Amino acid sequence: MDPEAFLIDLDGVLYVGESPVPGATDTIAYLRENGYPIRYVSNTTRKSRETLSRKLKSMGFEIPVSHIVTPSMAAASYIRGKKGTGAIILTTPEVSAEMGHEGIRHEEEGTGFVVVGDGGDLFTYSTLNKAFRHILGGAEIIALEKDRYWMGNDGLMLSAGPFVAALEYAAGTSAVVMGKPSRDYFMHALSSMDASPARTVMIGDDVVSDIGGASTAGLGGILVRTGKFRQDDLEKSPVLPTRVIASIADLPGLLASGELCPDR
Ligand SMILES: [Mg+2]
Repeated sequence: MDPEAFLIDLDGVLYVGESPVPGATDTIAYLRENGYPIRYVSNTTRKSRETLSRKLKSMGFEIPVSHIVTPSMAAASYIRGKKGTGAIILTTPEVSAEMGHEGIRHEEEGTGFVVVGDGGDLFTYSTLNKAFRHILGGAEIIALEKDRYWMGNDGLMLSAGPFVAALEYAAGTSAVVMGKPSRDYFMHALSSMDASPARTVMIGDDVVSDIGGASTAGLGGILVRTGKFRQDDLEKSPVLPTRVIASIADLPGLLASGELCPDR
């Protein structure tokens, strides 16, 4: 049975670096014209939702901010749920500011939380060591994502995962993960568009975060061979995608022919 709603990853599926994936804008226009509910479920933790929406618009995608789901929003909600108002926030300044708008300020002292996103060059020995000492003092590690790497303009880039793992290893503790593949994250995205897991498909380029996470939450998962896709990762994966396609540009043709997910 073909899906009735979609969760779509951004980086590596709609664009790579600063360039749209060929045919991706047409696919999104097709899905919107045909009334499919969509949420864009990103593990990007370098950019705010406003910046992502502007970037997408500059590449020809019409995607409202309210349809974009990011881990920093989930983290802010998690900390608020524990009556927290601050955290050591290791992310880019704009994501830190976005969390501030959600009621979670960056605090160096007296907080029970260390938030780790993809801080890029902000990860220095000094910032990591400060976080490490805080965690030893009892603070909880909140990983915005735990991806290994992503595809940048000039090659693969370290994501937040390796830095989260370093802090976990040093402190002998485990992080709580906010973004994909967290089941809660997928369920949050589904509930925001009133969709059921069994009738929704996730489209992504990461076999662990996108496809593994979708599978855990009961969704189908379509893996695209763009972005960070590596055949080696697919062959090593314990979770098999519902389908592997060359790129999201193939989606309208497969939907029109009813062959996207024949077994679901
Ligand atoms: Mg991706």
